[in-house]
Amino acid sequence: MEENLSFPKKIGQRLRHDWTLLLLVTLIAVLGAVEGVSILATIGLWLLVIATVVTRAPVTVEVAGPAGNESNPDAEEDIVPALAAGFSALDVPVVLIASDASVVFRNEAAEKAFGDFPVGAHISSKLRSPVVLDMIRETIATRKPNQVEHAERLPSERVYVARIAPVGAENEAAPEALFALSFRDISELRMIDRMRSDFVANASHELRTPLASLRGFIETIQGPARDDPKAQERFLGIMLDQTTRMSRLVDDLLSLSRLELKSHIAPDQVVDVVPLLGHVRDSLMPLADEVGVEINLHLPDGKAEVRGDRDELVQVFENLVENACKYGQEGKVVDISVKNAPGQSVEVTIADKGPGIHAEHVPRLTERFYRVSVADSRSKKGTGLGLAIVKHILTRHRARLIVKSELGKGTAFTVRF
Ligand code: ADP
Repeated sequence: MEENLSFPKKIGQRLRHDWTLLLLVTLIAVLGAVEGVSILATIGLWLLVIATVVTRAPVTVEVAGPAGNESNPDAEEDIVPALAAGFSALDVPVVLIASDASVVFRNEAAEKAFGDFPVGAHISSKLRSPVVLDMIRETIATRKPNQVEHAERLPSERVYVARIAPVGAENEAAPEALFALSFRDISELRMIDRMRSDFVANASHELRTPLASLRGFIETIQGPARDDPKAQERFLGIMLDQTTRMSRLVDDLLSLSRLELKSHIAPDQVVDVVPLLGHVRDSLMPLADEVGVEINLHLPDGKAEVRGDRDELVQVFENLVENACKYGQEGKVVDISVKNAPGQSVEVTIADKGPGIHAEHVPRLTERFYRVSVADSRSKKGTGLGLAIVKHILTRHRARLIVKSELGKGTAFTVRF
């Protein structure tokens, strides 16, 4: 406090603070003068004492913080509310336990993850995993931090790294030692790892099949069909199909990885979907004619603008209309409609009157390589990546894909911006 005062104010404050000492010194000086001590010596002494009072260092009183100091015997008890306040702010489950493994405190995240945690009860009343309990026992005995992996099945399947460490590890003599048990949720990391390895396995399998078939045909052309030009021509046709399928697959894989790279950047162009859908229909007319499907456009008057990337939106709608023509060809018609009601999100729906999709498949359609029927998809030149690409693009556009399907009646894919 004193640091912020001006110099004369500081002197005034100190003189006021030590007025009893100054009074005493003045009295001695007056008595000295009366008793015949040299007046100069008396004034000199008096000034020396005043100067000492004014220039000495300020007295400071240390106030113990919540962490306590050696002279505070209640430090251990004080530490719990302070730690509790800190841990309550975390969204990581944390449980404070005493050296008899009873629960001293648990934060809200711990209750959310593991249910009600009775304070005072032994930790094993809530966590029954022998690995975690062994770890706790060991740390209480050794005061050394430990961590293990712990899986929970209920209320939902999760994987955690459970870690325990003594609080204030340097205070070895503390009789009421506390230990912080925390849980790091690694379920998502595990899921991403699994998806990545499944994806690599699927992609290699998809490429290996046409490669094996190409190799077989080459060997046949070099061997038994060496002198059979008719068979050679037929085989070369199949080989061309297989290589086209491989390049489609590689194109789709590249498209997916490019989209993944920029998935966090939202597009910033303004795109009118009305002319864009006209363009999509025109580009798919040859396919529609080939499979005997009529594509009908139901567009509003005027514009239907959304924030997006034009090329990516073309890719989305080409994929959806192509699927509707291929998988819904029995219905003979595909309807493209746009809803642009004032104050509401723009919606584009692509509906076919095909066989529909069984409900159990619908939530998985956008997974990579997921197909209702692999044979059907292959015969229709599918890669199993089309809807995964659609989902990626729409995520980047902060748009939603809604699938409604009824067996025997058809399927409608709606993009809501
Ligand atoms: P593919 O390359 O196999 O077409 P997609 O990711 O585009 O891959 O589609 C995944 C699967 O979803 C398809 O194999 C098909 O079984 C199903 N599907 C997609 N659209 C439709 C539709 N309009 N009607 C019926 N099934 C569909």
